[in-house]
Amino acid sequence: MTTVDEHLERILSAVSPGRPRRADLHQAHGCVLAAAVRATVALPSFDNSSMDGYAVRAADVADATEQEPVTLPVEADIPAGPGTPAPLAPGTAARIMTGAPLPRGADAVVQLEWTDGGRTSVAVRRPVDRGRHIRRTGEDVTPGSLILPAGTIIGAAQIGLLAAANVARPPVHPRPRVAVLSTGSELVEVGSRLGDGQIVDSNSHAIAAAARETGAVVDRLTGVPDDADAFAKVFYALLSDYDAVVTTGGVSVGAYDVVKEVLTGAGSVQFDQVAMQPGKPQGFGVVSGVPVFTLPGNPVSALISFDLFVRPALQRMRGLPATGLPRAEVTLDAPVRSVPGRRGFVRVTLAGLGPDGRPGPDTLARPAASQGSHQLSSLASAQALVIVPEEVTQAPAGSRLVALLLGNGPGSILSGMGWADSDSTDTGGSRAGGSHQASPAAGAPKEPGPEPTR
Ligand code: AMP
Ligand code: MG
Repeated sequence: MTTVDEHLERILSAVSPGRPRRADLHQAHGCVLAAAVRATVALPSFDNSSMDGYAVRAADVADATEQEPVTLPVEADIPAGPGTPAPLAPGTAARIMTGAPLPRGADAVVQLEWTDGGRTSVAVRRPVDRGRHIRRTGEDVTPGSLILPAGTIIGAAQIGLLAAANVARPPVHPRPRVAVLSTGSELVEVGSRLGDGQIVDSNSHAIAAAARETGAVVDRLTGVPDDADAFAKVFYALLSDYDAVVTTGGVSVGAYDVVKEVLTGAGSVQFDQVAMQPGKPQGFGVVSGVPVFTLPGNPVSALISFDLFVRPALQRMRGLPATGLPRAEVTLDAPVRSVPGRRGFVRVTLAGLGPDGRPGPDTLARPAASQGSHQLSSLASAQALVIVPEEVTQAPAGSRLVALLLGNGPGSILSGMGWADSDSTDTGGSRAGGSHQASPAAGAPKEPGPEPTR
């Protein structure tokens, strides 16, 4: 059997960040910067007022008091907008708005509230220090300075800074485009009336959602039957349009395990028994340059396999460190048993989270009663997967073990991971031709919705 670490290592050595390309700011949202961005401009790019008020020479209002205001003629009105205001003559004021350019000669702004608000002349009731309420050129960003290092996830604030610095098309690693494909003749699409022996395809939805949570652009294909020709037709048509393909089902040792049948010998695909519980049958390889992950069909196995192997790979493809799920130590509040020789991933709920919502020294992990690989409900209510090392078969209550933190529940810390719909966030590659759409006729309708052009 292959170890979890060996399998992950094999995967990570085969994937790399997407080739950098320039993307407009909308497309760049949620992408990772592929190169450092330096400012070509100063921010602010000109001295301007941070207040609505009056541009003055501070010396001219040095003697102003509430009782004896200093009155100055108002020689100009300077709204925010293009143009250069006339220089301020000594002994005068200019009415000025927030963001408007400071006239040459002025060295302070008196805020409106300290004046009578006059239009032709203004009574100033308090003195101001030189430089008051002036935003100086370059005090935020100086030309040539590093504004965002390579590897930054581009979120709202980063988009704002790039726009302010007039960077229209930053260099990014594009989001990986991922096809998620479920196989099984028993599968029907959610919302269908089920016949005998049929089940709803939950994997394609769950895995597509998980891939989206990692920031991938995802298309979902459902219910390819256990027929080698049908699977091959759908699968091979995907390779020209996607950066990765994730399948579920059809990789164990039974008859009708079509994924295994079709992909054995394809590219570098290798099917392994990985020493883990759940999720033993795994496959991975690169076919025509596209990483292909073949996950087991049981829903919990599929999702846990995604978290262990596909998530870090997609992180790397996005240009991020391949960290996988965040980890924390927790204390078991009940014993768990684990299969000898396999790394166990035990669904637990967490109690006693720290004040930041993360596990702390007092956090207790309670194993879910059902740990079957088909029992999705306990995964949906779990907040973490406790890792039971290969050599441990019994972990008593009180054991300190490392847990992988899931994104659900009150302890959730998975946020800001770049959610995306594929229609709005494709970074503009030419591979999104949609040539696979005609092919899944043999029972693999592509997900309806806002994606059919891809
Ligand atoms: P397989 O790996 O194809 O042998 O499937 C293992 C188990 O997972 C079987 O009980 C399947 O019915 C179930 N299964 C496979 N694919 C899916 C799916 N897409 N959604 C829900 N259950 C599935
Ligand atoms: Mg199957």
